[in-house]
Amino acid sequence: MQPFAYFRPESRGEVFAALREFAPDVRILAGGTDLMVRLRSGRFRPNAVVDVKRVSGWSSQIVETEGVLRVGAGVTMTDLVSAPSVQQHFPALVEAASVVGSVQIRNRATLAGNICNASPAADTAPPLLVYGAVVNVASRAGERQIPLSEFFLGPGRTALAAGELVESIDLPIPVEAAGSAFQRITRRRGVDLATANLSCSVNRAGEVRMAFGAAAPIPLLVTGTAASLEEMTAQARPISDVRGGAAYRQAMLLVMARRALEVSLGRLRQ
Ligand SMILES: Cc1cc2nc3c(=O)[nH]c(=O)nc-3n(C[C@H](O)[C@H](O)[C@H](O)COP(=O)(O)OP(=O)(O)OC[C@H]3O[C@@H](n4cnc5c(N)ncnc54)[C@H](O)[C@@H]3O)c2cc1C
Repeated sequence: MQPFAYFRPESRGEVFAALREFAPDVRILAGGTDLMVRLRSGRFRPNAVVDVKRVSGWSSQIVETEGVLRVGAGVTMTDLVSAPSVQQHFPALVEAASVVGSVQIRNRATLAGNICNASPAADTAPPLLVYGAVVNVASRAGERQIPLSEFFLGPGRTALAAGELVESIDLPIPVEAAGSAFQRITRRRGVDLATANLSCSVNRAGEVRMAFGAAAPIPLLVTGTAASLEEMTAQARPISDVRGGAAYRQAMLLVMARRALEVSLGRLRQ
């Protein structure tokens, strides 16, 4: 591992100062479950790592405010899965967060880290896209919001500019009845990254929102109807790699889409 300066600031101001001083060769450390792997492998060679866990006001809370559920950047997968408000409004996100890694990983891994890592296979990305999540970003210059559908630019690349970090993720609380679900396939049971994953929601008008992971360079959101699942999944552009062939992934997307829609319709009826 290449040596780097390690900072554990206690204020936002110090975080932004470090980000500015070392940009662009600086990395935020949240749970570290992705970052440490990449530091060890040498894929990331930052000059500085900024551990944000002790920053005053760094939120590990999930709060309901003005029609949205705001998930602080410190919220872990374990926190998400056990939050009654998330269970009530966003069941597909609970399903996705429940299968990330292992208990130990989920106790450390943050939702914000999962999207900032920008893996095309990130499990929480499809449900977040389906639910219309918005990313709250901050820097020394101020704050801005980025719809998650515009956040991913490519594998490992996001719309975050140098000096910016994610402070929270907003989930609009659904105003109309809808059912939603999450599906994924892996090569083995237990700890594995998705060969492909998918989330779906359907409303009473039969409008379907669907998002796939590991099926294109970025997690992909598509819309359609219950009758157009084939057309919707055909928009995926999967590749062949160690986890599966492109044709297998494409075929399984349709299978998962049908399964997820069935579960979503069942939840809508309830
Ligand atoms: C054994 C193992 C199994 C795993 N299984 C899965 C799985 O099944 N599904 C899955 O989706 N993922 C899986 N992962 C990946 C990982 O656990 C998740 O992506 C996790 O959510 C990352 O969160 P973190 O808090 O650990 O992020 P970190 O590792 O701390 O950070 C990840 C990246 O995001 C950046 N970052 C973090 N927080 C912020 C922020 N607030 N603002 C700006 N940038 C930020 C970091 O600089 C880094 O580049 C697995 C990892 C391991 C090691």
